[in-house]
Amino acid sequence: MSMAGLAKKAHDDSSTKQPPPVSQQAWSLAGALADFVSDGCKLVTEEQYRARLETCDPCEYRRANRCLKCGCRLRIKARGRAFKCPMGKWPKP
Ligand code: SF4
Repeated sequence: MSMAGLAKKAHDDSSTKQPPPVSQQAWSLAGALADFVSDGCKLVTEEQYRARLETCDPCEYRRANRCLKCGCRLRIKARGRAFKCPMGKWPKP
């Protein structure tokens, strides 16, 4: 396959990514909220928050403010210390 073909395939694959089904998102959210409450509802620092979102910026799963891997809203999810990137990409708090 040519380089142009590979680039087109990568673009096509990323553009067809969809968020997980709503039932799976609800299950993930319930688990994440339980972790958040267990952690005392602690938030990350402003610096950690920005570092998380900067990690999301070039990620293939990001679509605007949404992570297509977990279905979460990134500007909310990145605030909670207990919340995790489903791909383990975020820097450690
Ligand atoms: S939370 Fe992780 S997988 Fe989702 S967009 Fe951010 S870096 Fe990518």
